[in-house]
Amino acid sequence: MALQAYSLARDGEAYLSPHFRVQEFRCKDGSDPVFVDTALVELLEQLRAHFGKAVTITSGYRTPAHNAKAGGTRFSQHLYGRAADIRVQGASVEEVAACAERLLHGCGGVGRYPAKAGRAAGWVHVDTRAEKARWRG
Ligand SMILES: [Zn+2]
Repeated sequence: MALQAYSLARDGEAYLSPHFRVQEFRCKDGSDPVFVDTALVELLEQLRAHFGKAVTITSGYRTPAHNAKAGGTRFSQHLYGRAADIRVQGASVEEVAACAERLLHGCGGVGRYPAKAGRAAGWVHVDTRAEKARWRG
């Protein structure tokens, strides 16, 4: 894996891979630069290929300030450009998480956040940390 820094202003429209642009990983506070791990982009492309449907990133890179505001954990993988919270069109949280687990080969992070009261739509957190982490939120 390799962490890359991109200028949102200059490279926001640029494609990192066939289906993902720099701006999709931007921190929601609009800060520049945007940090993205190349292995994360590869993982998202593999998920997209498996389902043959659009993968929407609801949260990618986060600055420490935004992470705190978003209620993220102190050492969240989002801070390192290694994490994405995603939804796949037409696929359930379980289906997306199971596919991510296969693709990560016993490493990386997979968090399941199913829909529940007060959360209309679920999502799956994926990250490319070296060790294995699995949880349900
Ligand atoms: Zn996340």
